[in-house]
Amino acid sequence: QSRHSQAFNEVSDLQRHISGTVITAGDSGYDEARRVWNGMIDRHPVAVVRAAVAADIGPVVHFARTRGLPLAVRGGGHNVAGNSTVDGGLVLDLGRLTAVEVNERTHTVRAQPGATLADLDRVTEPYGLAVPVGVVSGTGLAGLTLGGGVGWLTRAHGLTVDNLVAAELVTSAGETVTASDSENAELLWGLRGGGGNFGVVSTFTFQAHPLPAEVLSGNLVYGRDRWTEALRAFAAWTHDLPDELTTIISFMVPPPGWNLGDDPLMMLGFAWASADLTAGYEVVDRLRRAAPPDAEAVGPARWPVWQSAADELFPQGVRGYWKNTSFDRLDDDVIQVITRRAAEQTWRGTGFDIHHMGGALARVDEDATPFPNRAARFWLNIYGFWPDAADDAARIAFVRGFAAEMEPVASGGQYVNFLGAEPDLDQAAAALAVFGPAKLERLSALKRTWDPDNVFRLNHKIPPTIP
Ligand code: FAD
Repeated sequence: QSRHSQAFNEVSDLQRHISGTVITAGDSGYDEARRVWNGMIDRHPVAVVRAAVAADIGPVVHFARTRGLPLAVRGGGHNVAGNSTVDGGLVLDLGRLTAVEVNERTHTVRAQPGATLADLDRVTEPYGLAVPVGVVSGTGLAGLTLGGGVGWLTRAHGLTVDNLVAAELVTSAGETVTASDSENAELLWGLRGGGGNFGVVSTFTFQAHPLPAEVLSGNLVYGRDRWTEALRAFAAWTHDLPDELTTIISFMVPPPGWNLGDDPLMMLGFAWASADLTAGYEVVDRLRRAAPPDAEAVGPARWPVWQSAADELFPQGVRGYWKNTSFDRLDDDVIQVITRRAAEQTWRGTGFDIHHMGGALARVDEDATPFPNRAARFWLNIYGFWPDAADDAARIAFVRGFAAEMEPVASGGQYVNFLGAEPDLDQAAAALAVFGPAKLERLSALKRTWDPDNVFRLNHKIPPTIP
C-alpha cells in the first residue's frame, strides 16, 4: 500500500481529535472544499480539514508532521500562487474562524485567521476605527498580513504588518506561543512579512486607527488620449502629498456594470484618511486642475463601501497570474511603456495598478520588518483575472512581457502577496530576490528555530539553510 493511500485511510482518525470536519475525496463537499480563489489552481488534497475552533490547529499540524504529509494552511484562499492547497497532502482550512474583537480602550483588534477584510471592517467600523488592510473585501486577513498588507491606508498608517502588535501561533512542534514586542520579539519580526513559514497563526492583534464615518474617496477617470498628460501631472503631484492621501491608479477595461464603455481607461482612485474634507478636496483639486479628468465619481463614502468598491473585478474562481515590481522613476520613457501596455489591454481579463507608496510606510525603518524596499516611490502590480482557460497563454504572456519591460527601472524587492505561481522557479534565488541577503539570513535563522523540519513550506519559502 502506498504511503498516500495509507494516509487516506488514516485520515479518518483525525476526525476523532478535532471538532471541525475532515472532508475527503468521497465526500459530496470535496470539490467545493478544495477550491481556492485562483481558478487555475486545481489540486487534490488527501483531505481538507475545516477547523471549527482554534484548538483544532494543533492536532492537524501533529497529524501532518508525523505522517510526513505536506500541509497547506488556508485563511481566505486568495493566494494567487495557490499556496493554500496541495496535491496529496492536508489542507488546514481556517475559513470558519472569523471572530474579530475590538478593545475600545487600547484601540487594538484581535482577529481569528479565517477573517476576511470585510469581517474586520464590519466589526471596527462602529467604533470609528480601521486597521490598514487591502482593497478587495473577500481577501483573507491571514495571508495578507503575513506578507505585508497594502491598501488605501498605507500612506496614512503603514502596512498591515506595521500595525501587527502580537500574534499567537501553533508551531511545528505543536506548542502555542505568543509573539509580541516583549515575548519572542524576533518571531514577531519574522511574521511581519516572512509569511506562514514559522507556524500557524491562530490570533492576530492589530493596532487600529480612528477614521471618519465617511471617508473622502473616489476615482478620476481618463480616456486614452489623456493618459500621458495625466501621468505627467500625477508624477509631479506625488512629489508633495500629505500622508493622509493614498492613491492607486488602475488601467483596465472596466466591467460592463460600471457603464464606462469597452475601451481601456485610466482610473485614479484615492482615499483621504482624515476628517478634514476641505483639505482633502484641496489636495485632489491640485491634480484635477493640472489634468482635468474626463469623468469622475468623488465624495465621502462609508469605509466598508469604499473597501468593497473593486470587489466585482475579482470574482472567486477567475484564473489568476500576477507579478509585482517597484520603481522610482516616472519620466516620459516609463510613461511611454505604461501607456503602450495600457492601450494593448483591449480585453477584460488583465489590469495593472500603480500604487503611490511613501508616507507612513516609508518612515518605518527598512530593517524593522522583512517587508522589502520601503523606499520605493511606486509599485506596479500587473494582474490577470480572466475566466476562460483558452486565454491562459495570452494573458500570462501579457503579464510577463510587461514585467520584463519594467525590469530595467525596477528599484528592488518584490511583494510576495502579488506573485503568481512559477513552477520552474529556483526557490532560494526567489527568496533572495525578494528579501535580500541580510533579511533572508535572519528569516532562515528563525526557520531553523521554529520549523527546522520545514513543515510549513507551502508559502513563499524561507529555506532553513541558505545554499
Ligand atoms: P491563503 O491562500 O489562504 O493563504 C496565503 C498564504 O498564507 C499561504 O501560504 C498560507 O499557507 C498562509 N497562511 C494563511 N493563513 C495562515 C495562518 N493562519 N498561519 C500561517 N500561515 C497562513 N494584498 C494586499 O496587500 N493588498 C491588496 O489590496 C490585495 N488585494 C487582493 C485582491 C485579490 C482579488 C486577491 C486574490 C489578492 C489580493 N491581495 C492583496 C493579495 C493577498 O494579500 C494574498 O493573496 C494573500 O495571500 C491572501 O491571503 P489569504 O489568507 O486569502 O490567502
